[in-house]
Amino acid sequence: MTLLDPSGNAADRDIADRDEALRQAEPNTKPMIDGRKGYAEQFALYLFVVVPFIALIAAIPLAWGWGIGWTDIVLTLVFYVISGTGITVGFHRYFTHGSFKANRALKIYLAMAGTLAIEGPVIRWVADHRRHHAFSDREGDPHSPWRFGESLSGLIKGFWFAHVGWLFDLEHTNRAKYTPDLLADPDLVRVEKHFPTLVAFTLLAPPVLGGLITWSWAGALSAFFWASLVRLCVLHHVTWSINSICHMIGDRPYSSRDKSANFWPLAILSFGESWHNSHHADPTCARHGVDRGQIDISARMIRLFEKLGWATDVRWPKRDRFDKLAAKRATELSR
Ligand SMILES: [Zn+2]
Ligand SMILES: [Zn+2]
Repeated sequence: MTLLDPSGNAADRDIADRDEALRQAEPNTKPMIDGRKGYAEQFALYLFVVVPFIALIAAIPLAWGWGIGWTDIVLTLVFYVISGTGITVGFHRYFTHGSFKANRALKIYLAMAGTLAIEGPVIRWVADHRRHHAFSDREGDPHSPWRFGESLSGLIKGFWFAHVGWLFDLEHTNRAKYTPDLLADPDLVRVEKHFPTLVAFTLLAPPVLGGLITWSWAGALSAFFWASLVRLCVLHHVTWSINSICHMIGDRPYSSRDKSANFWPLAILSFGESWHNSHHADPTCARHGVDRGQIDISARMIRLFEKLGWATDVRWPKRDRFDKLAAKRATELSR
């Protein structure tokens, strides 16, 4: 199996080879059949995503003036974008899939920014995610919602497992197997070592800034609540929703071997990651929202890095490839 080295030390290694190797290493190459869900189930899932967010947004005017202010809003947004794109652009599209090459400063920035999401140290995150792609929705996938079958109770259990339960799995993905390239990079090993420091930073920077800007303890406290706790909570649920919801409901326009789906309501909050079927269809592609009108903020950011000269060899989508994947999908469905 050829693994990509995102630091560019082994530029000649082709990520496509790795994907192909993973594909061929699979014991079962049968196409997955789409499970058809009833409307009630679909509705319940939508509720699960939408209602808590509405509640959270409703809490803002209620707390306005005493529990939340502009400083909190700005700090929350800034830290959400930095840590969120650290995951999507950094941990996911760059470190896991090598959809572009980054210069050293950008690489270190992305590793640190993603760590601020508190979703685990970078190499561990990548190992789990590469394993997810290797086995997606089959035995060996660390977080498939289909693990407990397609009955209603199995799906509810599976949803919970894919969303958050898998995090408590005691087994660790073997990093030596899935991420030898990252383990060989001293910069990344150093960032991993500083995980506790970065966790302290992501929790404490917002209250320190909030306190200084408003020059009050109340300002520090509300910044801690919104820009540290609420921000991390929303970001965690959005990331987890890619594993749970985006493997259960939505459109599946492209052939992908699994049940990954494009779920539009999460496109903005997930920085484009909820175009998850397109991503599984062509995992190394730098843009996930490959169709017209599909907002993909991470892809825009990568484009900006490319323009600045910090990112090179960006693997932008090839229309003919996606046309072929769509045709393949149509054949699978007609079987
Ligand atoms: Zn997936
Ligand atoms: Zn991926």
